[in-house]
Amino acid sequence: MHKGEPVYSGKAKSLYATDDPRLMVMEFRDDTSAFDGQKVARLARKGMVNNYLNAFLMERLAAAGIPTHFVRRLSATRSLVKRLAMVPLECVVRNRAAGSLCRRLGVEEGRVLSPPTFELFLKNDALHDPLVNEYHAVTFGWADRPTLARMVEQSFRVNELLSPLFADAGLVLVDFKLEFGWADGELVLGDELSPDGCRIWDAASGEKLDKDRFRKDLGRVVESYEEIAARLGVPLPASP
Ligand code: ADP
Ligand code: UDP
Repeated sequence: MHKGEPVYSGKAKSLYATDDPRLMVMEFRDDTSAFDGQKVARLARKGMVNNYLNAFLMERLAAAGIPTHFVRRLSATRSLVKRLAMVPLECVVRNRAAGSLCRRLGVEEGRVLSPPTFELFLKNDALHDPLVNEYHAVTFGWADRPTLARMVEQSFRVNELLSPLFADAGLVLVDFKLEFGWADGELVLGDELSPDGCRIWDAASGEKLDKDRFRKDLGRVVESYEEIAARLGVPLPASP
């Protein structure tokens, strides 16, 4: 379906052109990074687990009427997606306080956020993905008002669909990051949904099962991602 070099290679995924200009192959690599790429590692099986989890979650969202770029899983680590013109913003929904929200506002980790809250970050590694607001987005042309309204609405809708899915598996969806982009005049959900871009805690113990295990050197990173897959009923191939 694709040949040669990726057209884009980021910190965790690579994108390849296909014979169809509207489609790309997204490869989930084992590379992981944190703190703006200052901390990097290769974690065996991570790409495969994230590819399977992303496929499962994107398919659930599509079935519930959320337009997404996901077409189908192609192999253990690759999926076919629609090529998007990305909106350069990250949409974060938070159900519990964690991470940068705690550092920024002095809120204790784990505090239930009622109602869930929403934040926008500019995708710009050189500026360390700064927090921005909707006025910045309009003024600087990153997204217009109707697009922002749609991204907020879709983000909360994703939260309404995924939170119960995780809760039924004994998991708390603490927060997550979404990216959107344009395909044929339609705004659709892009990028990935995996424990690399979400915080997911065990509901009973509060144990972190997401990328914070890598950020905080807690060990058992991919094992925790596999635990999430098992709890959600996502079958993974056995280790080679
Ligand atoms: P980063 O670019 O932050 O290092 P990744 O390694 O995850 O992150 O690379 C994936 C890149 O692909 C991101 O920049 C993301 O915005 C972009 N992207 C995600 N989905 C699509 C898509 N369907 N079409 C084009 N670009 C996409
Ligand atoms: N996130 C992400 N990519 C980023 C920044 C954040 O996927 O570039 C995710 C992160 O994994 C978490 C949520 O967005 O699930 C909120 O992250 P936060 O703002 O708390 O930042 P962090 O603590 O990771 O610096």
